[in-house]
Formats: sequence, C-alpha cells, structure tokens
Amino acid sequence: MTFISKTPHADVVLIGGGIMSATLGAFIKQLEPDWSISLFERLDQPGLESSDPWNNAGTGHAALCELNYSPAAKDGSVSPAKALVINEQFQLSRQFWSHLVDNNLIGSPKGFINTVPHMSFVIGEDHTRFLKTRYEALKPHTLFRSMEYSEDPAQIAKWAPLIVKGRDPKQRIAATRAAEGTDVDFGALTRELTTYMGNNGVEINYGHDVTGITRASDGGWDLTLKHPRSGEHGKIHAKFVFVGAGGGALHLLQASGIPESKGYGGFPVSGQFFRCTDETIAAQHSAKVYGQASVGAPPMSVPHLDTRYVNGKRSLLFGPYAGFSTNFLKNGSYLDLPLSIRPGNIIPMLAVAKDNMDLTAYLVKEVVKKHDQKVEALREYYPEAKGGDWELITAGQRVQIIKKDPQKGGILQFGTEVIAGRDGSIGALLGASPGASTAVPIMIELLQKTFPRNFKGWQSKLKDMMPGYGVKLDENPDLAAELERATAKSLQLESVSASH
Ligand SMILES: Cc1cc2nc3c(=O)[nH]c(=O)nc-3n(C[C@H](O)[C@H](O)[C@H](O)COP(=O)(O)OP(=O)(O)OC[C@H]3O[C@@H](n4cnc5c(N)ncnc54)[C@H](O)[C@@H]3O)c2cc1C
Repeated sequence: MTFISKTPHADVVLIGGGIMSATLGAFIKQLEPDWSISLFERLDQPGLESSDPWNNAGTGHAALCELNYSPAAKDGSVSPAKALVINEQFQLSRQFWSHLVDNNLIGSPKGFINTVPHMSFVIGEDHTRFLKTRYEALKPHTLFRSMEYSEDPAQIAKWAPLIVKGRDPKQRIAATRAAEGTDVDFGALTRELTTYMGNNGVEINYGHDVTGITRASDGGWDLTLKHPRSGEHGKIHAKFVFVGAGGGALHLLQASGIPESKGYGGFPVSGQFFRCTDETIAAQHSAKVYGQASVGAPPMSVPHLDTRYVNGKRSLLFGPYAGFSTNFLKNGSYLDLPLSIRPGNIIPMLAVAKDNMDLTAYLVKEVVKKHDQKVEALREYYPEAKGGDWELITAGQRVQIIKKDPQKGGILQFGTEVIAGRDGSIGALLGASPGASTAVPIMIELLQKTFPRNFKGWQSKLKDMMPGYGVKLDENPDLAAELERATAKSLQLESVSASH
C-alpha cells in the first residue's frame, strides 16, 4: 500500500474536518506545539457536513432562548440547572475564540460570529405561564441578568415585528429577550481553525476517506485511507486518534473494536429549513425566536425564526422540519443505519425502536408534509408569511445516541457523549446537541479523558487561554461581567455588561 498521506506516522490523527476536529487540533497546537498532527477529511473542504452554516441553525447555544433546556417539572416549576451548565459552556467557547482572535491566530470574528438577540416566544395561557416561570427562575442568575420579559404585543413587536404583525389580537402571547445572543457560522469558524493548523505544521488532507482503524502492535492505531477520486489507498500510524467524523463516528468507533464502544447505536434524524428569498423581509427581523416543540417532536425540532449571517450576508431561516433518513451523514449512504447494527447493540436498538414509536410516527408525518403545511407552521411565527418567499433547503443529519440501559434495554439520548478508550489512545464524539456551540468544553473534556497525565500540566495554559476556565461564572458576577465585556470586545459583539 502507498502512503497517500505525506507522512507514515503522526502523534495525533484527527478523523474529520468539522468543528470538533478543528477545535481539538487548535487546542493541541496551543498546548503541545511540537506534536505532529494529521487531519483527514473525506470531502474536498473542511466544515461541509453538520458544521456547514446551512446544515445547522447557527445558534450560539447559551440556553438564552431554547426552552427545551429548562422544561417545566410536573408541579409547573422550572429548574435553571441545565440552562446554567449550557451557558457556562458557551462562555468557555467565547473565551477560547477570543484568545485565538486576540493573538491573530484566526481572522476577523465578524466572519464567524455576530450579535443576534435570542428570544423565546409562546402562544396561549399555559405556555405563557411556563415562560414567566422560566424567566423568574433564570433572571436572578448572573448569566441571565439581561433577560427581559413581556406579554405586551407592542413591546414584542418592537423586538421582532414580523412575529406580531397580522396576528389575531385575541391571542395571548409572551416573549423573553436576551440582547447578547449570537449567530455563529460554524463552517467559517472551522475553516479559520483548519487554516491556522495548516499554517502551523498540521498536515491537512482533504479528499481522504478513513476506511479502517485497527490496533497496532505498539498500542497505537493503524488507519487505512482511500482517496475516492484517484482510487489510491494508503495508511498512516497514529499514537492517538480522534474520531471526529460526526455522523461517521459510530462506524469507525465500532471498527476500532474498543470495549467502550460496545452497545452504542445511532438514530438518524434529518431536517429541512425554509430560507427566505426576499432580502427586504430578512431585513425586518433581527432575532432568533425559539418556540415550543410540538407534541411528540424530539427536543431538537423546536421551531425557530432566525436571523442568520453567512458569508457576511444577513438572511432569514425557519425550521427545522424534522424527517427520517437512514443516512448518518448528509453525504453518506442509505446503508449507514443498517450497517451499524451489530450483535452488541441490537438489544438497545430494538428497545429504542419499541419505546419511541411516537417519535418515529412524528418523523414520518413530518416527511410527508407538503409545502403548504410547512408554510402553515411558519405562520405560527410569522403570520403574514407567503409560501412563494421561501425555499426549502436540506439541513445536516443528526445521529442521536442509542445506548444500553439496565432497566429499558436501551435508551435514546439527545445530547453528546465523549467516548474514550481506557488507555487514552483513542477518543470519539457521538451525538449532536448542544453541538458546535459547546465544541470548546467538549474537546476539553476529551483531552481530560484521553490525556489524563498531560492534562494536569496543561492547567495554567488553559487558564491563560480561558480566564474563566474552572470557575463557575454564575457564582462570580464580577468575573462574569469582566469576561463578557472582554470577549464582546474581542469578538466585536454587543456587551450587556456595558449597560449593567
Ligand atoms: C439541523 C441541525 C441544526 C443544528 N443547529 C445547531 C445550532 O444551532 N447550534 C449548534 O451549536 N449546533 C447545531 N447543530 C449541531 C452541530 O451542527 C454539530 O454538533 C457540529 O457541527 C458537529 O461537528 P462535528 O465536527 O462533530 O461533525 P461534522 O461537522 O459533521 O464533521 C464531521 C466530518 O467528518 C467527515 N468524515 C466522516 N467520516 C469520515 C471518514 N471516514 N474519513 C474522513 N472524514 C470523515 C465528514 O465529511 C465531516 O466533514 C445542528 C445540527 C443539525 C444537523
């Protein structure tokens, strides 16, 4: 076999050129500049799968507007706990990105992050009660101090005119707004990070499929590679492998045969967005407006009407409309799901199929929805919407985690999970949410699990890069305000601390 990678060996091999591999590579370059790193991406550019701006919603998830991170308990109360964790995680991402910008390691932040206020919007008595309770649970916390609440249509119209104009005045509506919300072009950020790596000695290989992964005799890993266009094959040996292949991660993890991968399966959920084709309409909306998920819908199918900035251009997006496809990657194969079924995961997969009939039914119903029905859903958020102003685009695939469960046999999990081999020579990421926004804390967790000894020595460097690392900002209001101000300045965002 030939070596189609330039080197036969690397300390670190990153499989996949999405936001996760790019973030991990940037971290390792900062922490251990002398380690050799090779990245392999099957497509011709980085960030073209889930990290591409049109394949995800670009929300900088900080739990400012996503109601599924703080659901009501049976007694109607709302716990701020999960929302706080997610917001703290996003603060770390902001700090790491600011460090890279401040040190001229990546380009202008305007190319990948912009201020877009985050709103939650609900209709009806019960949902209004819930939103108020949620607001009261979050507002006292430092990280949610800027949040505003209103049931007044005139005020809500000032925040987001399109959602009020033409609405039945008898409808009871309520909204919250956090001015510091963000829209992130994760594809642009991925490109910035891979360019930084490439300029600093990382061997970047596009158009390279990693087709196999086997344990080497020295405890490292032998990877087989294929160049799909030329048909060439090759191999590379790695001391450490990160399986950052997004939806492709499960197959590679299964191929590695590590015991930690046993019992995991994947449940793919596809999606579509409506994109507004009329720039004058897009110009009238400046917010990400998240609502409530409909009954039976998975948590990531919460509808939202979103201002987006992609390639410097402002646009308007609505969705997602969930769907079902057996692909694990948008550029994948219909055989992805069937080929992922193994003796080790068949019980959890069957258990999930049995226990989630309502989800399957929901997805099938969504798939067959016609354009007009999709416009109806949009009109809940934009009553005067006209079908002709919107085009359907296909979003990325999300592969939700199926895992063993002692009681139920198997469960479906909507978050992300870091899987690490016991000897630390391999790590992988499964799942999709809250996703790219929290790439920074997720990759720190991966480093901690896979390099436990080095990790102790990295503490002061991590703290230099992210002054809030290891600190609960919500319990340190002064530091929280200082870092919010500093990261807003570095990333050219609006600062809420300036006015508090
Ligand atoms: C519809 C939708 C909406 C979303 N909205 C948001 C949002 O608003 N905010 C947010 O933070 N997150 C969001 N996410 C989640 C976010 O997009 C993902 O968590 C994130 O992009 C995952 O990054 P990744 O690097 O793991 O995967 P990807 O970006 O998919 O990258 C994986 C890469 O690996 C490559 N690859 C796969 N197999 C191989 C192989 N064998 N060899 C070589 N390369 C391989 C692929 O080609 C791909 O480029 C959303 C996702 C979807 C699908």
